[in-house]
Amino acid sequence: MAQPVLKAELSLLMLRFLRQMAKAVPPTLLSDRPLIKSLGRLRSAEAECTRCPLYKDATQVVPGEGGAQARLMLVGEQPGDKEDLAGKPFVGPAGRILNQALDDAGIARDDAFVTNAVKHFKHEMRGKRRLHKRPNAYEIERCRWWMEYERAIVKPAVIVAMGATAARSVFGRNVTIKKMRGKQHQMPDGGAAFVTVHPSSLLRMPDEADKRREYRNFVADLKLARRCLK
Ligand code: SF4
Repeated sequence: MAQPVLKAELSLLMLRFLRQMAKAVPPTLLSDRPLIKSLGRLRSAEAECTRCPLYKDATQVVPGEGGAQARLMLVGEQPGDKEDLAGKPFVGPAGRILNQALDDAGIARDDAFVTNAVKHFKHEMRGKRRLHKRPNAYEIERCRWWMEYERAIVKPAVIVAMGATAARSVFGRNVTIKKMRGKQHQMPDGGAAFVTVHPSSLLRMPDEADKRREYRNFVADLKLARRCLK
């Protein structure tokens, strides 16, 4: 009877050990780059970025937001119209859903580091309206440079990738949300990662019952991530 308990305790000890290692080991993948050690310096560097063409038509860069000590990192796709104007991530309609879902999952947004895979707003003009346009593989890959810095500085114990663009950036390859969802994935640096939908996908659902069901699933994904933080 004692064996399963012992096994669970050993797994827990191993997980804590791996997390400590993740904090202690400098990210070798950044060793050949300019050294950026603080989020303030990172924001300044991002503001000067011309690594892809998206900076040209955006109002400003939208850096990640949150403390360098955050244990949870939430990654979205790219800033929307409101975020582009405010210079802050997730302040528009998708941000309101995210805030509600975090609340329902028992996570304080201020405890998380919230960012996007792509830091400039990609859009096309339709009359006077700026309509969201999905970033392409090249833009995601070019902007991954900045998320790697964010990960190296914050060293989150848990990352939640929200949507296919975020998942591609976090894992460095195309992934299928359906296949990856609801499971814990181990990152090479010892941290854990989860995959879920982007909250803006809920906004696009015409059927209210579908929307409620998907919202519950979204909250359940966030709860999984929260459990992993304990
Ligand atoms: S989207 Fe990313 S890579 Fe492209 S210019 Fe902006 S910060 Fe640089």
